[in-house]
Amino acid sequence: MGILEKMRLDGKSAFVTGGARGIGKSVATALAEAGADVAIVDIDLDEAQKTATQIAGETGRKTIALKTDVTDPKEVDAMIDSLLASFGKIDIAFCNAGICINEPAESMTYEQWMKVINVNLNGVFLTARAAGKVMIQQGGGSIINTASMSGHIVNVPQPQCAYNASKAGVIQLTKSLAVEWATKNVRVNSISPGYIATELISNAPHLVPLIEKWNDIAPMHRMGKPEELQAVVVYLAGDCSSFTTGSDFVVDGAFTCF
Ligand code: NAD
Repeated sequence: MGILEKMRLDGKSAFVTGGARGIGKSVATALAEAGADVAIVDIDLDEAQKTATQIAGETGRKTIALKTDVTDPKEVDAMIDSLLASFGKIDIAFCNAGICINEPAESMTYEQWMKVINVNLNGVFLTARAAGKVMIQQGGGSIINTASMSGHIVNVPQPQCAYNASKAGVIQLTKSLAVEWATKNVRVNSISPGYIATELISNAPHLVPLIEKWNDIAPMHRMGKPEELQAVVVYLAGDCSSFTTGSDFVVDGAFTCF
């Protein structure tokens, strides 16, 4: 089988958390273009449904939309049950839902801290654990978690200690799961995007003025686009990456290189 054939995901089923928009939507589209059936999992059901319909129309793949708050273990387990009822199996899990709160550490409330840790780290644990259980029983699967370059560096000037800590946690959680499940044919990797032009940034009024500054510092003098993360996730999702597990893939236009 040639390499392009090995990269195809025909016959596989996937779910994407935070799939309604941004990076999740873009990656969900790519997974479907590569042949997978895809569940769009998001706390925002209206937008998830629109995305699922759009992807099905563009790719001809089966898609479903599921309303799930990734911080709620019961909702995550119910999401897995619905997914199995629709698709029969789970081959690919993209645990991607995330939020950011920028607040100086000295004024960050415990509630703000816990909100970020809950979605970004606990949410990834809950969805990866639930997917991993099914994949172990099935005899294999691929889990890809969204970390961030903020799990590697403290990017300035915006103060975001909870976000940085949560994303460093995702990278180490990914490695732990990869080692635990290495003999069970369940691979676990993470991606660490740099600044990507999505609503996570455009909806945060205090971040928008910083874009010019980031672009100034960035070696490529621009932010990334969501579609520039598609190929790495499709690679990690499929059988062509069979020896790749426990790795973190930094996709940041060299932002963390200096
Ligand atoms: P986005 O805000 O455009 O999309 C995030 C999606 O997650 C939304 O659809 C939202 O409804 C959903 N979501 C939020 N909380 C949820 C919850 N509790 N349960 C289920 N769904 C929930 O963000 P994005 O930029 O596409 O970010 C996606 C991921 O990439 C996040 O983990 C983010 O931290 C990470 N990331 C983003 C950037 C960037 O520059 N945009 C950089 C590095 C990492």
